[in-house]
Amino acid sequence: AFDVLVVGGGPAGASAAIYAARKGINTGVVAERFGGQVLDTMGIENFISVQHTEGPKLAAQLEQHVKDYDVDIMNVQKAKELVPASAPGGLIEVKLENGASLKSRTVVLATGARWRQMGVPGEEEYRNKGVAYCPHCDGPLFKGKPVAVIGGGNSGVEAAIDLAGIVSHVTLIEFAPEMRADEVLQRKLRSLSNVKIITNAQTTEVLGDGSKVTGLIYKDRSNDTDHEVKLDGIFVQIGLVPNTEWLKGTLDMTRYGEIEVNAKGETSLPGVMAAGDCTTVPYKQIVIAMGEGSKAALSAFDYMIRSSAP
Ligand code: FAD
Repeated sequence: AFDVLVVGGGPAGASAAIYAARKGINTGVVAERFGGQVLDTMGIENFISVQHTEGPKLAAQLEQHVKDYDVDIMNVQKAKELVPASAPGGLIEVKLENGASLKSRTVVLATGARWRQMGVPGEEEYRNKGVAYCPHCDGPLFKGKPVAVIGGGNSGVEAAIDLAGIVSHVTLIEFAPEMRADEVLQRKLRSLSNVKIITNAQTTEVLGDGSKVTGLIYKDRSNDTDHEVKLDGIFVQIGLVPNTEWLKGTLDMTRYGEIEVNAKGETSLPGVMAAGDCTTVPYKQIVIAMGEGSKAALSAFDYMIRSSAP
């Protein structure tokens, strides 16, 4: 059995694995896709102390760093069920889709999240070529240029307020007749002179010139007419979905599927910690996921030395 079994091979999982292995304990990592969301990222400029890097490069470095230690990496393996220990301090089981079953004294869940996509023509083609999902990450790339934000919930309106200070103009497009964001955010947004809000509008297509985004088409749902907006960037803010469907019913989660963790990364299940984008910890970022991953591993170690038989 493992001492620490990490589920997920993104920044949080890699960090947890390194911290655990450095304690000289038996560490394993199961990952559906080692590298996680970082693999889908182009330029990264907010990974502190590294002025600029690229997703695939950082993902390879994460894996290399983990491999420097005696860690059992099980890549391209998906966990499908977690069975809690039958008694406190007992072994926790993680079942994989390939039929295997792994046992461990502690588990760190770091399965991350995925951005909900619009699912319209052009979105996939122009991903990272104008279609973006993270204003903290990619906002500065559109300095002085016009952009759109899709979604008028809290994250969309926060993104629009944030971007309005960087870009030349923001068009916020909301599907419903009203934005759903908190009133105080809506008020702030409406006070900004370089923001236009379009409600009751469905984005139907991302337009581009073959190499980058040039605009979008939305349908005015009140009269079914199509309209084109010219812009350089489109920030899709219609939800971040945690990869926790497989854990439903086994531990405490919010209604959005985020695993509830305390300041030590502990979940509602003894011996099970969680870290990164799959948890309630706000601001989903690489440096944050790494910090949380290391915390969860130290917390798992703490749990182990307290619960293990002499
Ligand atoms: P993830 O990176 O999502 O990793 C999750 C891991 O769990 C993966 O290995 C996945 O395969 C695995 N997994 C999922 N389910 C299972 C399962 N059932 N069984 C086994 N394994 C599973 N952040 C920044 O700080 N700067 C940026 O510039 C930046 N740009 C971004 C650009 C894009 C396009 C995107 C999508 C995100 C960006 N982010 C950026 C956010 C950042 O990538 C995430 O915050 C970070 O990767 C979260 O790390 P994580 O380890 O929690 O999750």
